[in-house]
Amino acid sequence: MTQGEPKRVAILGSTGSIGGSTLDVVRQWPDRFDVRALAAGGNWESLLAQVIEFRPRIVALRDAGAARALREALSVADAVSSPPPVLEGEEGLREIAGGDGLDLVVNGLVGSLGLLPTLAALESGASVAIANKETLVMAGEPVMAAASRSRGELFPLDSELSAIHQCLRGNPEKAVRRVILTASGGPFRLRSGPDLASVTPEEALAHPTWNMGPKVTVDCATMMNKGLEVIETHFYFDIPFDRIETVVHPQSLVHSMVEFVDQSVMAQISAPDMCLPIQYAMTYPERLPSGVRSLDLVATGSLTFEKPDLERFPCLRLARDAGRTGGTAPAVLNAANEIAVEAFLAREIRFDQIPGVIEHCLERCVGHPEPTLENFLSADGFTREEARRAVRDLRSRAHARGTAS
Ligand code: MG
Repeated sequence: MTQGEPKRVAILGSTGSIGGSTLDVVRQWPDRFDVRALAAGGNWESLLAQVIEFRPRIVALRDAGAARALREALSVADAVSSPPPVLEGEEGLREIAGGDGLDLVVNGLVGSLGLLPTLAALESGASVAIANKETLVMAGEPVMAAASRSRGELFPLDSELSAIHQCLRGNPEKAVRRVILTASGGPFRLRSGPDLASVTPEEALAHPTWNMGPKVTVDCATMMNKGLEVIETHFYFDIPFDRIETVVHPQSLVHSMVEFVDQSVMAQISAPDMCLPIQYAMTYPERLPSGVRSLDLVATGSLTFEKPDLERFPCLRLARDAGRTGGTAPAVLNAANEIAVEAFLAREIRFDQIPGVIEHCLERCVGHPEPTLENFLSADGFTREEARRAVRDLRSRAHARGTAS
């Protein structure tokens, strides 16, 4: 890309919460970005509206039925004179990500299906701005290796990792003493341990600060989200686990901190709005005005910090342990968590049973000490089966108790 030309961008997960914020940044800076490609899961109506507004050259939907519906709608849409091709399936997402002539792929997909598109984009030489934390958790080594081979760069979109990236700018790696990740604590920060058994999906989906998709919101409520970010931080910044700490910060204004060897601590503080980390990554190394609300510190009053409670929120401990074990253990943790969260949202297991399913899988699924990409993918597959078995077991035990009483 020569200077002054718009960045050619593809957005994966364009109809989700990260995709929406990314398109807001594009609307703010229309001359700087050319939306070449859009991809989503099954929401073809929203994708149709985005095609009309942003005129991508190619689009994809993971769901084949939705892709058919979009093709039909595009063929009769007056607003679109030459409709873009509509790819389908996970293959379609990969093709979009690895497409020719892209400068930047924004990966806002949820879950492990974000991995292969990330690798495809890096291999084609595009930069990747990644909100899909499962990619780094599942296969941190191969992803970071692909990033270092690639002409493109990998940027974290997680607000915490973006904060660390901002704090580290201009500082040598060896100057870092520790990283302090902040966590909102989720909606059940003040709930007693026994009360966590009765948490409903509706309660878990009402996050106090951030507006996100269901998987990420439940991860915040169990604090697995922070656990995944600890692992992400380890791989992305190459920082050992014993130098990554977490503190609960309910105001969600300090997005994370870095302490340097001289005990100086840098924090990145701003209103909680994903447009900020997204724009930071999309325009890096430039900083531009954003649509984010300016921080009123006096109105904010106080910033508070607490120690996370690992008794009530064991997912954070499980994630740290899996990270320390290394190999395929983080991939097992991630896959078991995806299945457990799905089962909780489908009312198949209780909220407080999510950590048990993950722990069961971590004990059962033998890790591979020096895994290849294939090993990571098969660990993901095996674990999903094992986690589904654990969910079925819990259901039949609950059913047996129900009929016995
Ligand atoms: Mg985050």
